[in-house]
Amino acid sequence: MTILVQQLRERASRATPGPWELQASNSWRRIGTAGGRFADGDVLAPTTHRGDNHPDLAARQEDLDFIVAADPATVLALLDELDTAIANHENAVAHMQSVCAERDQLKAENAELIGLMRGVVGEFPHRHKGSDGNGPGHGHRVPGVWDSDNGELAGKPCAWCSIWNAAKGIVERHEQAMTKEQP
Ligand SMILES: [Zn+2]
Repeated sequence: MTILVQQLRERASRATPGPWELQASNSWRRIGTAGGRFADGDVLAPTTHRGDNHPDLAARQEDLDFIVAADPATVLALLDELDTAIANHENAVAHMQSVCAERDQLKAENAELIGLMRGVVGEFPHRHKGSDGNGPGHGHRVPGVWDSDNGELAGKPCAWCSIWNAAKGIVERHEQAMTKEQP
């Protein structure tokens, strides 16, 4: 199909530019460009050879090549391709719209969760002083790591401190992003 399109495009670009019209005045039919001067039958007209009166077509070779290339089967195949392309485009637009709606919903849910997270993170420091890397209520000597007197947990990362620091990180990153967005 691409080769067909390319061939038709090349031939159309060499042919007499349109619009063309069927002209029938004075009881003889010819095709000429619409509206211009000297446009009477300037694309295709009947003629006879001077020497032997043999019938022929008066036309530029480029126009004859184009007319042959643009036969009904070719034009119908191109229109089928166009219909398919339009249908695909409409499907893509519908898909994009549903993706956008989903994105907007996720953004709204995300904003709700971040607001909740900010409320939680903002509430704790009022009750528990110190945010040195330890979560509220925890006082590890190495922040976020269980002390040596914690048996099996000794030296291992503390899950609560880890969650706390992650929550603080989310709120801080969101606030930085909001600051950047403001003009
Ligand atoms: Zn901890």
